[in-house]
Amino acid sequence: MNFSFEKIIDISQPVDEKSACFPGDTPFSRKVTLSYESSKIINLTALTMSPHVGTHADAPVHIKGSLSPGSTADSSNDTTAGAMSLTAFIGPVAVIDLAPSKAGIAASMVKEKLKAVSERVKRVLFKTADTINFEVFEEDYSYIESDTAELLGQLGFVLVGLDTPSVDHIRSKELSTHNVLDRHGLVWLENLDLRAVEEGEYFLVALPLKFMDLEASPVRAVLLK
Ligand SMILES: [Zn+2]
Repeated sequence: MNFSFEKIIDISQPVDEKSACFPGDTPFSRKVTLSYESSKIINLTALTMSPHVGTHADAPVHIKGSLSPGSTADSSNDTTAGAMSLTAFIGPVAVIDLAPSKAGIAASMVKEKLKAVSERVKRVLFKTADTINFEVFEEDYSYIESDTAELLGQLGFVLVGLDTPSVDHIRSKELSTHNVLDRHGLVWLENLDLRAVEEGEYFLVALPLKFMDLEASPVRAVLLK
């Protein structure tokens, strides 16, 4: 096996108090619980945020089941962020450039490109934005139409990602794309930053943290070239 690579491309969005947040969701905030100035030893902080702020992976329990202690959040299933299999989050990936687009990504738009992806590549990221304002939540964002989610499942993809806050339209009530992806066993990444990435094939590393009771987790997503 050859692990050498020339370049690491960071495709994660910065997270701080100015980071955009889905309307009604909990933004990032930080409290300094001990400062170096006062303690002369260390800085310590405590943080509050929805795990959907910044670049993240949703876990299946985001859209189904229960987060009550003792129900889904145990080690016997893989529905929480920390219990998900890591296999899909590491491996060859194709980036498909649709930027700039604020439309839904329909199967007809990407079918040919998906079929042209190398056979060993079972992950795909859709680039829809050339510019991103990390501090403003844009309601008008590109999302994945459910027929594309079906197609990804049929083609055997294991991960899909995009550079907007959700795989579904903001006004979607039934979250059909989330559900179709989950039914096919795909995982998905949201709020990527693909501005500096050209269409092509890379190696993805984007691991969710081992939060055993959460429905999503921040990831530090990188592409290796
Ligand atoms: Zn999410």
